[in-house]
Amino acid sequence: MKLANLIGWSALALTVGAVLFRAGYRIGRDKSGLLAGAQGGASGSQRQVDTTFYFRGVHFLLSDEPDKAIEAFTQAVRINSETVEIYLSLGNLFRARGEVGRAIRIHQNIIARPDLSDQNRTAALFALAEDYRQGGFLDRAVDAYRRVLAVDPTHRKALSGLQALHESEGRWDLALEVLRTLKRVSGQSDPRREAHLLLRAGLEQRETDKAKPEASGREGTRESAGPPLSLEPFLAAIRVYPGCVEAYRLLGEAQMERGDIPAAIKHFSTVRKTRPSHFFLLVGALQKAYTLSKDEKGFHRLMNEAVSSSSASPRLILCWGNILEGQGRQEEAIQLLRRGVALHPGSTHLAHRLILFLRRQQRLEEALEVTDRCLDLLTSRQPVFQCAQCGFKSQDISWKCPQCQMWDTMEPL
Ligand SMILES: [Zn+2]
Repeated sequence: MKLANLIGWSALALTVGAVLFRAGYRIGRDKSGLLAGAQGGASGSQRQVDTTFYFRGVHFLLSDEPDKAIEAFTQAVRINSETVEIYLSLGNLFRARGEVGRAIRIHQNIIARPDLSDQNRTAALFALAEDYRQGGFLDRAVDAYRRVLAVDPTHRKALSGLQALHESEGRWDLALEVLRTLKRVSGQSDPRREAHLLLRAGLEQRETDKAKPEASGREGTRESAGPPLSLEPFLAAIRVYPGCVEAYRLLGEAQMERGDIPAAIKHFSTVRKTRPSHFFLLVGALQKAYTLSKDEKGFHRLMNEAVSSSSASPRLILCWGNILEGQGRQEEAIQLLRRGVALHPGSTHLAHRLILFLRRQQRLEEALEVTDRCLDLLTSRQPVFQCAQCGFKSQDISWKCPQCQMWDTMEPL
C-alpha cells in the first residue's frame, strides 16, 4: 500500500473511530438511546451487531481490503447523520483514489436507505453525481446533478459540476443556462466564461441553421432576404466582457460576410482600446477588410498609429514588421524593429527578427551589434547559482539558502 493511501485510510479509520465513540457505540454501555433520531427503537443486540460490522470495516480498510470493508460497512443496518458522514467520506476517498466503481457502490447504498434525512440524501446524490462524472458516465451524472437541483435549486457545487459537465460535452447552450443560474445563486459572475459560451452557442446555432436551409425558407433568395446570420451572440458577448477579442473577430467576420466592411473595420479596431495586448491577433482580419475596401493607405495609417503607441506589444510590432518586409519595405521594417527592441529590450523575439532582417540585407555589422546587446542583457539577467535543495536561483552565492535555510547548497549553473 502506498504511503499516501495508508495515510488516507488511517485518517478515515480515525474518523470512524471518533464518530463511533461520540455516538456512544460502546458495547454494553448504551443506555440512553444514542442513535435517537435515526432508529429510536433499535435493540441493544442490533447495535452490537452494527458496531461489530463497523470495527470489521475499519480493520479491512487498514489491511487494504477495501471490498471487504465496504461489505462490512454496508452490513451495519442503521445509519444516522454521523455514520452517513463516514460513508460519504469513504466513498469520496475511493473516488479520489480513482476507484470510481467502489465510490458508486457506497453512495448508491446510502441513497437506498429508507431512513435518510433529505439533507443526507442530497449530499449522497451529489457525491454520486461526482462519481459518475469522474467515471465518464455523463448522462447518469447529469441526471444525478439534476436530481440534487430538483431538491435544492441553489446547490452551488451541483450547479458548478453540472456546468463543467455541459462544457466538457460541448453543450454550450445548457452550459450557459446553468452558468447564469450559478451567477444568480452565488452573486458571482464569470464574464470571460459567459462571453465564450455565448460565442460557442451562437456558432453552433449558425451551423444548425446552415444544415437546414430549406427550413428557413430563404433558400434561393438568401441575398435579398435579409441578414444570413445573427450578430446578436457576438454583441452579447461583448456586452458581457468587453475584452473578448474572439467576439470582436467573429462580429467583424460576420459583418464582412454581410458586406458591411466599415462596421467590420470599426469592430476589429476597437480591440486596440479594449485589449491592446491581443490586438495583433486581428491584424490579418483588418488587412483583409481594408483590402476589400481597397483602402491600403487606411490600413497603413492604422498600423503605423498602432505600433507608435506606448501600448504596442512586441507581437504587434513583429506582425507589422513582417507585413512591411513582405511588401519589400525592408528599411521601414528594420527601423520599426529597432524601435521595438528599444521599447521592449527583453523581447528576444523582436531582437531575433531584427537580426534576421539585417542579415538578409547583408548588414552584418549591425546584426552583430544587436546580437551583442541582446546577449549582454540576457546574461545580465541570468541566475548564476541554484540551490540543489529547493531550486532557488540567484546571481550571487548565499552560503545559507534564503528560501530553504539549508547551508552550503548553492551550486553554480
Ligand atoms: Zn534552498
